[in-house]
Formats: sequence, C-alpha cells, structure tokens
Amino acid sequence: MKFIPAYKKLSEKEFEKKINQLEKIITCCTLCPRHCKVNRLKGEKGFCRADHNLYISSYGAHFGEEDILVGTYGSGTIFMTWCNLRCIFCQNYDISLNGVGEKVTVEQCADIMLYLQKRLCHNINLVTPTHYTFHLVRAIKIASEKGLELPIVWNCGGYENVEVIKILDGIVDIYMPDIKYSNSETAKVLSSAPDYFERCKEAVREMFAQVGNIQIENGIAKRGLLVRHLVLPENLAGSKEIFAFLKNEISPDVAINIMSQFRPYGNLPEKMNRPITHIEYYEAIEMAKQQGLKNLI
Ligand code: SF4
Repeated sequence: MKFIPAYKKLSEKEFEKKINQLEKIITCCTLCPRHCKVNRLKGEKGFCRADHNLYISSYGAHFGEEDILVGTYGSGTIFMTWCNLRCIFCQNYDISLNGVGEKVTVEQCADIMLYLQKRLCHNINLVTPTHYTFHLVRAIKIASEKGLELPIVWNCGGYENVEVIKILDGIVDIYMPDIKYSNSETAKVLSSAPDYFERCKEAVREMFAQVGNIQIENGIAKRGLLVRHLVLPENLAGSKEIFAFLKNEISPDVAINIMSQFRPYGNLPEKMNRPITHIEYYEAIEMAKQQGLKNLI
C-alpha cells in the first residue's frame, strides 16, 4: 500500500486553523519553552534571534543521517538558521549562534521541498525547526498543494513547547528529537535551559502519542519517533535517567540513536573539555540495554 504522509490527510480548513494558531503564538512568542513573548511578526527577536523572516543555511540530499532516513538517495535536509537552544558546545555554531544563512520566503522554502523530492530524497528533514514552526507549516501546506508527498521529519533539539507539538499533530510524520540532558545543572550551563528535561519529556510523550514507534518500509522510515542522545564526558548528560524515561514512559521498543561524536567546542567547563572515551560510550550503550531499551540504532 502506498505511503500517504500525515499532512495529505489534513483538510484545507484544518491546515488553516493550525497556521492561524501559530501566527497568534508568534505575535507573543511562545513557540518554545523560553516564552520570550516578543512580537516576531513585528520583527522583534527573542533568545533564538529569529525574527519574522525565515532564514535557512543550506539544503540538499544528506547522507550523514541515520540509515533509515538516508536510504539510497539521501535525506532531504533543510538546515535552519538560529536555534532556540544555543548550546555553548554546538558544532554548527556558525549557523545556530552566528546566524549564517539566507533569507527565503515560505514559497521558496516550499520550492526547496519540491526540489528535494525531485532529487528522489526519501523525506523532508527539517533541521532545528522549532523557532520557525509558523513559517515551516505554511511552507509544507504550499508544497503539499504543489505535489509534495514525502514524510516530514521534525529534527529538533527537544526543548519544545508541548502545546506547539500538539498543533503539529497531522503534519509531522517522523519526530526526531534530541534528548540531551536529564541533569538540570548541565542543561543550565550548556544550554541556559535548566527545565530542559521536564519540557523535553512533555514534548516526547506527545510526539509518541501522535506517531508511535518507528515504522519502516523497504528499509526507509515512514512514520514514528526516533530519539537521539549524545553521550557527554563524565556522564554529565545523565544518560541513565533518559533511558529509564524512554523505557518506562515511552516504549522499550522506541528507536534510539546513542551518539558518540561529542567534540569540545566553545568555552566549556574543564571536565567537559575533551571528547568522550570509548569506555564512556560503551558504558552508555550497556546502560540503555540494562534499562530495557531494545531498538538501539
Ligand atoms: S522561538 Fe525564539 S523567540 Fe520564540 S520563545 Fe523560543 S527562543 Fe523565544
């Protein structure tokens, strides 16, 4: 049976309702838990630095993502400029912290989605989309009307407003949040977000309620939740608590990519100022298995 992405089943009226809700939210911005309450439509900027315009840094067929997203022809990534987390160790700091990117209209963004489809990419992978939710939902609607039929991947940092995630019900097919930290002190020092884990858990529960465990057809993910977790030196992320949350409150079968590529960038606390060791990485893998997680990818 042919896969039909979620947004293809949404009526024009339902799409418009969601766009109107998001438009209201960005006039007193609470798109993410920072709740800056700036009027983005008037060009005001909050913590993320994004205003009323949409900026993207790059787009193309990407082969560095998980195999179930990359397939044969690549994941159709669109990298957004700015970020609502602004982690001090970010490897993409040019994009997320320094704002390198080009201004595009939502119509141009829709055309990029269609271009990626034409290139046979397996999905539209929106990287760091949270602060542009309003723009991206409009772009998806336009692209859908012009023939887009690929699943939408919401590739976010995990610091999400659950009320906004509820609006995305019926638009996003694959949620791919990071769960970065359970330790609030680490979240405060590295991302100025001491409530990170609480907000992330709320959002991930809602994401899972919408899309469930990952569904794969012919080796390619079509729908579901895929979690990423980056192991930090000295277990500063609090990995065990994250795995326990996933096992106990989401599903033992939830797909999780435990990542090892932490590199020290920026002005880091001394004990973090090194890559992780092989032992730290394999300890994290063992921890996940011991907690009962079965779908490590
Ligand atoms: S999206 Fe940006 S402006 Fe809006 S609440 Fe988050 S950080 Fe603030």
